[in-house]
Amino acid sequence: MHELALAQDIVETINEKVTDDLRKISNINLEVGAFSGVVPESLAFGIETIFADKKVPGVKVTIVKVPTIACCTCGKEYELKEIFETCPVCRSFERKLISGMEILIKSVEVSEE
Ligand SMILES: [Zn+2]
Repeated sequence: MHELALAQDIVETINEKVTDDLRKISNINLEVGAFSGVVPESLAFGIETIFADKKVPGVKVTIVKVPTIACCTCGKEYELKEIFETCPVCRSFERKLISGMEILIKSVEVSEE
């Protein structure tokens, strides 16, 4: 399952970069792009399951969904709701994705006691 492997990665990254004591973590804020292929609810569940396995209760996972924004060759930026959508101005398929593919650890709140 994709989300569970990803959840594992995220917890390991937090463990390495933020705190080696996972019990201090109270909140994890993530951003997940609409086109990242990840189901935010499954990812949150995966992370919560990992913390529960480690006997760390009460960690809250908040996931903000990031819309997919494309930039057309004509300069128009628009939200892409599905992959076959074209530019609303010139109907072109030529575009660059500005956001929507990312899976980011936005912030981690750690309680100091
Ligand atoms: Zn265009």
